[in-house]
Amino acid sequence: MLKDRPVAFCNACNEYSHDSAVINQRHTRTKNGEKCEGLFRSALREDDWERCFACDGTGSVMGKACDRCDGEGWIVVRRY
Ligand SMILES: [Zn+2]
Ligand SMILES: [Zn+2]
Repeated sequence: MLKDRPVAFCNACNEYSHDSAVINQRHTRTKNGEKCEGLFRSALREDDWERCFACDGTGSVMGKACDRCDGEGWIVVRRY
């Protein structure tokens, strides 16, 4: 199944979000004991993203989460 396109990405750790409420908010998640200081940037346009070719946009490869896109099925191409 194809995954829905995310709407935002963290400019520090590159985590994606499907919730437009996080846009321009600090990323508050703590990962491996380190707090992310990033900011979620909007990526609402279709050309902000490309479908992951490793998993064909499904987010999984042979039943496991795709390494390249972290199981999202999309790669952000916007960088600011
Ligand atoms: Zn982050
Ligand atoms: Zn993938």
